[in-house]
Amino acid sequence: MIRTRFAPSPTGYLHVGGLRTALYNYLYAKKHNGVFILRIEDTDQQRKIEGAVENLISTLKWTGIYHDEGPDVGGEFGPYIQSQRLSIYREHINQLIEAGHAYHCFCSTDRLKSLREQQIAENQNPRYDNHCRDISKDEAEQRIAAGKSSVVRMKVPTSGFIEIYDLVRGKVTFACDLLEDQILLKSDGFPTYHLANVVDDHYMQISHVIRGEEWLPSTPKHKLLYEYFGWKLPQFAHLPLLLNADRSKLSKRQGDVAVEDYLRKGYLPEALINFLALLGWNPGTNREIFNLEELIQAFSLKRINKAGAIFNPEKLQWMNSQYIRGLKPENLLKLASPYLPDDKSCQDWPKDKVGEILLLLQPYLSTLSDIPEKGSFFFNDPVLSENTELQDLIRSPEFHTVLASLKNQVVRVRILNSAAFHSMVKTVQQETRVTGKQLWTTIRVAIIGKEHGPDISKIAEILGKDRFLKRLDAALKING
Ligand code: GLU
Repeated sequence: MIRTRFAPSPTGYLHVGGLRTALYNYLYAKKHNGVFILRIEDTDQQRKIEGAVENLISTLKWTGIYHDEGPDVGGEFGPYIQSQRLSIYREHINQLIEAGHAYHCFCSTDRLKSLREQQIAENQNPRYDNHCRDISKDEAEQRIAAGKSSVVRMKVPTSGFIEIYDLVRGKVTFACDLLEDQILLKSDGFPTYHLANVVDDHYMQISHVIRGEEWLPSTPKHKLLYEYFGWKLPQFAHLPLLLNADRSKLSKRQGDVAVEDYLRKGYLPEALINFLALLGWNPGTNREIFNLEELIQAFSLKRINKAGAIFNPEKLQWMNSQYIRGLKPENLLKLASPYLPDDKSCQDWPKDKVGEILLLLQPYLSTLSDIPEKGSFFFNDPVLSENTELQDLIRSPEFHTVLASLKNQVVRVRILNSAAFHSMVKTVQQETRVTGKQLWTTIRVAIIGKEHGPDISKIAEILGKDRFLKRLDAALKING
């Protein structure tokens, strides 16, 4: 049975890299009719943030990546929050100490700090010098009884190599003299990531550990722990890093990294998922658009790339625009409504007209938050006097003749629709002898204040006779 897990630390937001990890774990599990688990790794008490777990779960749900087991849905192998599993870790620490694989370390922060400084000054790799390794169990117990604070460290061989097999990278070898006696239990009684992660992966029967490359250096220590406990090793797959365009590690400083930010800005979860799926994995073809079901079918760990994947925000925008274009009208209306301007400019429009506006704007949107700007010519009448770039056109004699002739037509119809508008423009052309681009640009500028945008006949139809005439009159007033 394939069992994968996403094991985030609740930092207050879901990192896009985290979502990619969750996605790959999800896809792999679903592809093989397996189980996808959410486990909260909250053993770092200093980084605890109120509401972070709830936020994480609701953001994951928003993206459509549902877990089969987890803190909110339960499961056979819970609890799924590490801070609720402390007694399990305690028991396993004791086992390791008993078997001589781990020991109490009483070194003070000051000692560790000066050790580190000295090693750096001597051009050595900073690492713990195993100072407390040989303290006997009795002595350690006496010190603890006397109230001495301690941590527990695992013993890591001081020489030799540890080899791991990674499904993405193949065989990876680590020299033990570059590793150190890793802390497993902190002085506050909480386990470190390493112990809790290994214990939980074992008891939750995780078959495949799929996680970011930043955890690769921890894997030899994890392998040792599995050996110390006598447990079967899961399979490992380390995903390539997500990088900024300059190949630095994707960081908050260079843009948004929180999934919540993207969703708030009007990225569709389906687009974000599709985009992230292709960051580090490829389908082996040029195809780029995949829905979740198609991703499940196409996904394989074999096609995960080793090289870091550049997070290209423009590509994400493009992908999002593709998904927005594909929205059915009723979905577009539902999803777009939080992004409409919430002032009078929009409230003045009847609901069905707002729907028409959104459908017209649909092909022009990269994100839903583009709506107020891309649709501003609907929501606000253009102010031609302020338009410095188009003054030559606005002040030209043709501008007046065209608009006056058009007005003449418009006042005569009962309803202004796109077909009627086209025949009116034809008449204007005959009457004024102004043709082609000049004619269309004149009308467009008068009505929306810009040279480019959606089909002006559709705009005219949506504006309707009264609004259209009002804008025509305002333009004629400027050039009267
Ligand atoms: N808690 C770790 C994290 O925040 C999990 C790493 C792992 O998957 O082993 O990413």
